[in-house]
Amino acid sequence: MTSTPVPAATSDAPASAALLERATRVIPGGVNSPVRAFRAVGGTPRFIASAQGPWLTDADGRRYVDLLCSWGPMILGHAHPDVLDAVRTAAAKGFSFGTPSENEVLLAEEIVARIEPLEQVRLVSSGTEATMSAVRLARGATGRAVIVKFAGCYHGHVDALLAAAGSGVATLALPDSAGVPAEMTADTVVLPYNDVAALEATFAARGGEIAAVITEAAAGNMGVVPPAPGFTEALRRVTREHGALLISDEVMTGFRCSKAGWFGLEGPYAAGAPDLFTFGKVMGGGFPAAAFGGSAELMSHLAPLGPVYQAGTLSGNPVATAAGLATLKGCTDDLYPRLEATAHTIADAASAALSAEGVAHTVQWAGSMFSVFFRDSAVTNYDEARDQDTAAYGRFFHSMLESGVHLPPSAFEAWFVSGAHDDEAIGQVVEALPAAARAAAHGG
Ligand SMILES: *Cc1c(COP(=O)(O)O)cnc(C)c1O
Repeated sequence: MTSTPVPAATSDAPASAALLERATRVIPGGVNSPVRAFRAVGGTPRFIASAQGPWLTDADGRRYVDLLCSWGPMILGHAHPDVLDAVRTAAAKGFSFGTPSENEVLLAEEIVARIEPLEQVRLVSSGTEATMSAVRLARGATGRAVIVKFAGCYHGHVDALLAAAGSGVATLALPDSAGVPAEMTADTVVLPYNDVAALEATFAARGGEIAAVITEAAAGNMGVVPPAPGFTEALRRVTREHGALLISDEVMTGFRCSKAGWFGLEGPYAAGAPDLFTFGKVMGGGFPAAAFGGSAELMSHLAPLGPVYQAGTLSGNPVATAAGLATLKGCTDDLYPRLEATAHTIADAASAALSAEGVAHTVQWAGSMFSVFFRDSAVTNYDEARDQDTAAYGRFFHSMLESGVHLPPSAFEAWFVSGAHDDEAIGQVVEALPAAARAAAHGG
């Protein structure tokens, strides 16, 4: 492994600080998605000016190895030549038509071909729209209202799903956000992740009212917490017994954990496939494209065929679908072992560095997605995920940033690699780890 003489970024980032100052005047908190503000780790978020392959370059001209990959989409690396070509070709033909177009058909065919139980998908513009629409479809198709979700699973900022209220068997779902009236989550039941007994108890009490269970196929939004063996099977079995649907949210894991997402790793299931899947992130290749889908019969409840309304001015946008299709074409059989090898090299080095400094930690996996939890035992649910040393993560994060490695700015996120992470990029990460582990061990 080569290591690199790239100049280390330092903690002072004057151009980013100046942009943040201007941004905070015209954009709430200076950011258009809250986690970007670095509130969980402190300090000044880096304003990124350009990105290429595994590298981000900030407004001060400093270069970072990117372990965020836009929270998942940039699976081939930034500005991949094939995707760039596809985007240029599509854009030269016009940006949006408001009519059907061929790229939508090609992208839908590619998705349906990859995931065996899928017959049809509807394209939307964000993961939030995908889960919101899947929930509406589930309620419309079953004529029932109640949705079961799991604490620590994030499904976008859908009103009914912005509830993760603590643990306990059937927690009454309280909204996590102001502006979400209690009525919006009154039909949401939040259960602990990986808890089959809680699921069975809820269905025994209210099975006839439940439209659907929605779950992250493998949780990635409380850090990576894969379903325990048999958990997904149990979700399928119990929902089916009670005439409820199962929605597998693969917005993060889809086309990331394998060619066919988490389903490709864990499925097919003896009890049957999930009824609905949601996708986003990778399938847009960095552009706003997402999808939800299932059997043709279930999808026929959607307008214009059926009574469940769903629409979008930019849905199936020709440039976004071209980027998504080119990205999926690059997600070949040989990409995934490469991603896993890269991720394991980085995770093993992180673990060795933390062990050398005596820092309690646990690494958890879903395909090539992984998280380093700053605690000494495995995490199976949200309560356990929250029981970690987030201050130590903050010190670790900032040391890595100063050494030119951009991690996710929160202890509750997955680390992502791309097919473009080469020996130079991996070497820079490995070199940065011992100092970061020391910072984690020794406080400010
Ligand atoms: C990112 C994410 C979403 C929301 O997608 P957006 O495109 O940010 O709206 C939904 N579900 C999961 C599992 C996600 O990781």
